[in-house]
Amino acid sequence: MEVFTTKDALKAHLSAFKTNDKTIGFVPTMGALHDGHLALIERSKRTTDITVCSIFVNPTQFNDPADLEKYPRPIEKDLALLQSADCDILFLPTVEEIYPPRDEAWLFDLGKLDEIWEGAKRPGHYQGVTQVVYKLFDIVKPSIAFFGQKDFQQCMVIQYMVDKLRLPLRIAVVDTVRDPDGLAKSSRNVRLSPSGRQQALSLSKALFMVKERMEEGMTPLQAKEEAQHFLLETKGIELEYFALCNPSDLSEINQEQQYIRPLVAILAAWVDGVRLIDNILL
Ligand code: AMP
Repeated sequence: MEVFTTKDALKAHLSAFKTNDKTIGFVPTMGALHDGHLALIERSKRTTDITVCSIFVNPTQFNDPADLEKYPRPIEKDLALLQSADCDILFLPTVEEIYPPRDEAWLFDLGKLDEIWEGAKRPGHYQGVTQVVYKLFDIVKPSIAFFGQKDFQQCMVIQYMVDKLRLPLRIAVVDTVRDPDGLAKSSRNVRLSPSGRQQALSLSKALFMVKERMEEGMTPLQAKEEAQHFLLETKGIELEYFALCNPSDLSEINQEQQYIRPLVAILAAWVDGVRLIDNILL
């Protein structure tokens, strides 16, 4: 695996692949890699000629400075994982490399996506996400970029930007990777205490509960009520939102709309001082 820390060196290296008509797969991450990230790398390896992963803890997408500070950065372990996944290229820039002094301001109109759920709860988050992803796309110029369904709204935001700016690449969404007991893999899970991790398990349990109750014949809204009740009863979970939505625009469904398929159940909660999100397609 080749490691690049400057955009000019990476661009020069990748331009040779482009002139040879090779497809470039791109997996942007913030590091603290786990099996979820590795699933994106595997998919990229299977579908493109060369896979570029980036590790960059992007300061502009953190609305909470403490969260940025506490974000795990185990770079040696990440390098070993990328080597064993046979990743071709790692882009590992500094903050100054991505945001030079007197960098341009960024304001991208995301419409409703910036005002609901994660957009509402984390003001400025998707501005930071689109800002950094636009810059990274411009440097890597991928044929396909891979994102995880775990961050469902983020996938929608990125697709929205790609469509609106007519960026010449495809977005591929990869299924959420979970621990065997159901907890969605997340870089933030390492901050959970053993009891916090046990409590966090209720989040995926609630999502699976909605699916099971629907399979048993409950309406989606009845099933969601029951799962929400279970979550509200669970000690240590501070629920921010839990909603059944139309996956095309993330609007919350009502009685009449609950029969459309698929639906997506989305949630965010604080557990043990850690903010976690998860979702399931129904
Ligand atoms: P992050 O490093 O958290 O910014 O995530 C980088 C990419 O990995 C994003 O596209 C995430 O959606 C994706 N990702 C994170 N966790 C998972 C997971 N459990 N399963 C699949 N993809 C994931």
